[in-house]
Amino acid sequence: MNDSISIANPKTDILQKVGLLLAGTSVLILLITWAGVTLDSSIFLPISLMGILIGTSIYSFQKYKNLPAGIKNNGVYQTSLTNRGAIGWVVGIVLTGFYIFLYWFPEMLGQSKEGNTGIVALFDPLSIFFKSQAATQWFMYGTLYTLIIISLGVKFMLKYRHNRYQLIRTIVVVISQLFLAYLIPEIMEGMNSDSPYFAKDLKNMWPLNYYFFEPWHLKNMQASSSGMIFLVWGILLFAVVTPIITYFAGKRWYCSWVCGCGGLAETAGDPFRHLSSKKLSVWKNERWMIHLIMVFIFVVTAVTLYGYFAGTGQIFGMSIGSTFRKPYAFLIGAMFSGVIGVGFYPLLGNRVWCRFGCPLAGYMGLIQRFKSRFRITTNGGQCISCGNCSTYCEQGIDVRWYAQRGENIVRSSCVGCGICSAVCPRGVLKLENGPKKGRNSV
Ligand code: SF4
Ligand code: SF4
Repeated sequence: MNDSISIANPKTDILQKVGLLLAGTSVLILLITWAGVTLDSSIFLPISLMGILIGTSIYSFQKYKNLPAGIKNNGVYQTSLTNRGAIGWVVGIVLTGFYIFLYWFPEMLGQSKEGNTGIVALFDPLSIFFKSQAATQWFMYGTLYTLIIISLGVKFMLKYRHNRYQLIRTIVVVISQLFLAYLIPEIMEGMNSDSPYFAKDLKNMWPLNYYFFEPWHLKNMQASSSGMIFLVWGILLFAVVTPIITYFAGKRWYCSWVCGCGGLAETAGDPFRHLSSKKLSVWKNERWMIHLIMVFIFVVTAVTLYGYFAGTGQIFGMSIGSTFRKPYAFLIGAMFSGVIGVGFYPLLGNRVWCRFGCPLAGYMGLIQRFKSRFRITTNGGQCISCGNCSTYCEQGIDVRWYAQRGENIVRSSCVGCGICSAVCPRGVLKLENGPKKGRNSV
């Protein structure tokens, strides 16, 4: 009896407490600077960044090292943070507030042309190191985003260390974020200020990257030969590379292996995956929303391209900027993907954006649903209906429903995270890329 209690709720040991203290103090430094206190950034920036990385790693290592093989989600419905309790709400409100400041009130974070203060100023030394200029709110955000994916990626790998798929997938997620989304673009910006952000287009493709076809971006890309390479790459990535890989492997190659939004959801969002609603009505809304947003960005882009080539800012008497581009950028690009997409992790689960909003996920989902070899096969005879798979499906798919019937799962929303399979105690579920023939779908 005592043994089972200690496995279910292991005590926090002294090293874990040290890790927590280190990570907590580091986060406190960020919060203090956010509140407007200016600290010596050459001292406190490395302390804060390394403290988060080392503190979470110590904590996670100690937490998981003595637990037996298998994935432990004990207590997720008992803790305030992961069951929409008071702590969950506080974290959700702080995150939401952070995103609102980030998008619309960067001066509240200390961003200033006259000289940064607050949390943005804390990142000045690192920005100067990369590109000889003071930090912006986006540099600060990109650095923290990458640090969180690495730190909580380590935690994720320790938690899921007995599952090879999860280990390899998370290593790819971390490398992809660190190099493709952060280091290469920052270093390129430091080397060549003419094409500062194109490197981000290596993996941030349209329509997720909604500004790809906007006039200023097209003009910038056309202005240099390196920009033209990224323009051609961006078009090929969407029109050729994505359909081919999605045909063979499903949309998981992007949503769960490469994408930054997916990377954050899988690592920082892991404790909240069970909060995704499994209701049938929500599934219906999900299909409407994601496809309407996809149509929205297709229309916005078509109209924007028309304006670009026709040399006009109007269509049918309407302003292309204020009627089409700006509402999309505000409502979907910022409000949905950032504020709600991440801010609401502790309330609605970790894949709100991927499930209801991302137009790229919608596009790949259609290929996955109708023209892909990817499916999750189920060995129905082994299923004991425990419901673990459905509980931890971050996309709100009622996996058990399929497992009980021995039916293959072919759903456009499945991001192929593999957690349903990893948490199944009976080995019922298998992610496969098989011949298209034989995929039964509902
Ligand atoms: S986790 Fe496995 S055994 Fe449990 S309901 Fe799902 S498929 Fe069945
Ligand atoms: S069905 Fe399984 S692999 Fe697909 S999103 Fe849900 S948990 Fe991940």
